[in-house]
Amino acid sequence: MAGSHKLHAIAISSLERRGYYTKPMLVREEAEPILGLLRAQGGRVTTCRRAILETFLGMGGHVTAEALTAEVQVNQPDVHESTVYRFLDELERLGVVDHVHLGHGPAVYHRADDPHHHLVCDGCGAVVEVPEPVFADLRSRLHADFGFTLQPRHFAVTGLCQACGVAPGR
Ligand SMILES: [Zn+2]
Ligand SMILES: [Zn+2]
Ligand SMILES: [Zn+2]
Repeated sequence: MAGSHKLHAIAISSLERRGYYTKPMLVREEAEPILGLLRAQGGRVTTCRRAILETFLGMGGHVTAEALTAEVQVNQPDVHESTVYRFLDELERLGVVDHVHLGHGPAVYHRADDPHHHLVCDGCGAVVEVPEPVFADLRSRLHADFGFTLQPRHFAVTGLCQACGVAPGR
């Protein structure tokens, strides 16, 4: 496993991409339309739910309900994990978030409005986000030859990243 991790990744950690603590106002602005949608659909907007949503947005997605709960509890220790689960479920029904299975562990939640797929390295666990059209050829081939509609969003595709794998043809 020598060599540097030179992944041609769009993003490995969206946590680094959007810093909650450096841009709290941005997170608040992002949360507002989502809370508006929730209200319009008859959902309740509470301080606790606002905190869960803002924390989720601040973490940039790809978090388990457990990790999200722990982060929310830093400021709101009385927020229970079941509350976070229920709220994530509701946001999922509204099409705001989606969950994806990256491996054996619990599902992670991410924004639904940013279509992408996940490649997970079996060697080091690196997660690579790739844009949806990457699977376009495979999708049409599977549909034409097998009548199968590929929907790779729910589970990650596993394999070996550039650092862990052997380049094909070498
Ligand atoms: Zn699932
Ligand atoms: Zn994702
Ligand atoms: Zn790897």
